[in-house]
Amino acid sequence: MSLVYPVNETFLSWQGEGVHLGRKAFFIRLQGCPIKCSWCDSASTWHPQFVPKDLRKASAAELAQEAQAARPEFVVITGGEPCVHDLTALLAALRAVALPIHLETSGAYPIAEGFNWVTVSPKWAKLPLAESLARADEVKVIVETPDSPAKWLEAVGGRWLAKHVWLHPEWSQRANPAVLKAITDLVKTVGAPYRAGWQVHKPYQADSLDPRSRPATPLGGDRERGF
Ligand code: SF4
Repeated sequence: MSLVYPVNETFLSWQGEGVHLGRKAFFIRLQGCPIKCSWCDSASTWHPQFVPKDLRKASAAELAQEAQAARPEFVVITGGEPCVHDLTALLAALRAVALPIHLETSGAYPIAEGFNWVTVSPKWAKLPLAESLARADEVKVIVETPDSPAKWLEAVGGRWLAKHVWLHPEWSQRANPAVLKAITDLVKTVGAPYRAGWQVHKPYQADSLDPRSRPATPLGGDRERGF
């Protein structure tokens, strides 16, 4: 059982995506990701050029106390890829302070028991496990090109199991008319489970208002502006 976790950052903000959009949330971003997407927006969790020199190590109890002090509606464990870590101790510590626990994962690694909400955002560099897709409360598909949704549907066997499948433009493509039209057309044509998505916290720069957060390190663009 991991008793100490490598922590990239923690911060109090609001959930900027998905079903829980706009709700007060405390984020724990764990260090490390072996997936290495070319457009990763959290490159400081793994990319040698951006990995922080002052990486924090924190116990499950310390993280739970910090989360509790922020009085959020729920905690989001994200990364990096959080499921490369043994999250047993962290889940137990957060449960002990009675906080609902959400997970954001690629789904490429087994998901521990005990999360109240699971968001799976599949990545081509390491495909999600079938069990992860079955566990997902919502899926977030990153739309890099207009044909991304069709390619993903084929990759998952022609059927999504999650009730909500968000279509998010990859952030450097968020003003690409072809990408936005593909999302709009699919939602208008098919409807559920598809939903048009957006990373609302980015234009707000909501996360960076907490001094515990780190500057954004997107590989896909907008590094200068930080969102
Ligand atoms: S986008 Fe997520 S899965 Fe991909 S490299 Fe970045 S942290 Fe890892």
